[in-house]
Amino acid sequence: MDHTNLNIPHSAQPRIVILGAGFAGLNLARNLSGSHFQVVLIDRNNFSQFQPLFYQVAMAGLEPSAIAFPIRKVFHSSQNVYVRQAEILRVEPDQKTVITDYGNIQFDILAVCLGAETNFYGNANIEKFSFSLKSLGQALGIRNQIFVDFEKSMYIKDFKDRQGYIDFVIVGGGPTGVEMAGALAEMKQYVLPKDYPELEKDEIDIYLVQSGNRLLPGMSEKSGRNAEKFLRRMGVTVILNDRVNDYDGNQAILKSGRKIPTNKLIWAAGIKCPVIPGLEPYYDEKSRRLLVDEHCKVMSCSDIYALGDIAGMKSDSYPRGHPQVAQVGLQMGDYLSRMLSRQQNGDAIRPFKYKDKGVMATIGRNKAVADFPRFSTAGFFTWVIWLWVHLFSLIGIRNKLLVVFNWMWNYLRFDSSLRLIIEQKNHRADQNQPPINDYVSENVERS
Ligand SMILES: Cc1cc2nc3c(=O)[nH]c(=O)nc-3n(C[C@H](O)[C@H](O)[C@H](O)COP(=O)(O)OP(=O)(O)OC[C@H]3O[C@@H](n4cnc5c(N)ncnc54)[C@H](O)[C@@H]3O)c2cc1C
Repeated sequence: MDHTNLNIPHSAQPRIVILGAGFAGLNLARNLSGSHFQVVLIDRNNFSQFQPLFYQVAMAGLEPSAIAFPIRKVFHSSQNVYVRQAEILRVEPDQKTVITDYGNIQFDILAVCLGAETNFYGNANIEKFSFSLKSLGQALGIRNQIFVDFEKSMYIKDFKDRQGYIDFVIVGGGPTGVEMAGALAEMKQYVLPKDYPELEKDEIDIYLVQSGNRLLPGMSEKSGRNAEKFLRRMGVTVILNDRVNDYDGNQAILKSGRKIPTNKLIWAAGIKCPVIPGLEPYYDEKSRRLLVDEHCKVMSCSDIYALGDIAGMKSDSYPRGHPQVAQVGLQMGDYLSRMLSRQQNGDAIRPFKYKDKGVMATIGRNKAVADFPRFSTAGFFTWVIWLWVHLFSLIGIRNKLLVVFNWMWNYLRFDSSLRLIIEQKNHRADQNQPPINDYVSENVERS
């Protein structure tokens, strides 16, 4: 196996290496397909995932394959884009080299689009015992745990003992927490009573804990209050001005002293950007994002750009950087591809300007809230807009059709049929073959 430059052929074209095939990286690579660059796109997964609908996978509303798209498929007809599945380990800016678990690669230009990860704020217990929602694997993990626990609850006679298995605590009243709470409330209403008729529906409690005095702090006051009203009506216990301080896998302990038994604590209380070894000096101390100038170029670094969640671009309109949402990543991907071709042609380049298209969150069937640049809205029509926007943001006709089919089925039948408990046992037909990552690291070490 050739680990030199990840076995990418030599080319006279300048090489742009893109780290991460999420909203920003994939969009950049798509825009540069057919350009005068040699493009190398690296991600730890061989698929790109649509994070806004993770919660629907976790809540058994969608199959994972409906919201993930194989990266290679996007570039079937592309001559200049090379895809590699690898874990980014380090960047050496002076050597213009990226080090991955498959080997090294040299770049002329580097675009860092590695997104963000869950922030547990240093709480080791919460990190160890809670569930988070930052990957498809984690979404499936939540789905499995819900149904494993409900199956177990069938054997537990004592009401008190049963609570830990059937109650949920969601931490964080941002869009992810709100959407998750809404979806769980619908599952409690429409799905679980049919599957588990022996349980009293009212036994199942869903708590949403938010440290501030309202939900959706990144949205307008009106949207936050509407979301709270919808959730309370759906039976969610919204706890404001309190926070989960500790969790041992069985019981959440709140700052107020309140204790809630649950073995499903879903942590949706914050994100932070990964700190890439070798790039540490270029992070903003406060936001822990890579500090970039108005052209998305990492400050004090030549030929290294950062896009999407990880890019900390401060401006008069966004003194703390842009919101960490998909549109920023997509627009930065568009911007950098245009800027690089203008630079190549010797044309003047303009600074990046974010076009705010609005923020939305759905709270369940027929209910959503949205803030557009000039107004806020809530209710059925907002929900229809939410469906439309998310559907058309998905890549691939197959995925769109799958999602539409599932949504229609769930909507009309008040049910979905995706409640399989899939065990994560790793039975391999060929036991002598090591898992891919062992194989790779062994071979990298030897080469
Ligand atoms: C549950 C959830 C719901 C959300 N809902 C919304 C929403 O409704 N609307 C909205 O606008 N935004 C939403 N967001 C935010 C949105 O998904 C992000 O802003 C967006 O994905 C950022 O794009 P990105 O390209 O910067 O990073 P990402 O899309 O996260 O892509 C990063 C890529 O880098 C790869 N990667 C990371 N580290 C490594 C490594 N070390 N080695 C190799 N590959 C690596 C990852 O596999 C991933 O493919 C949501 C996020 C979450 C988690």
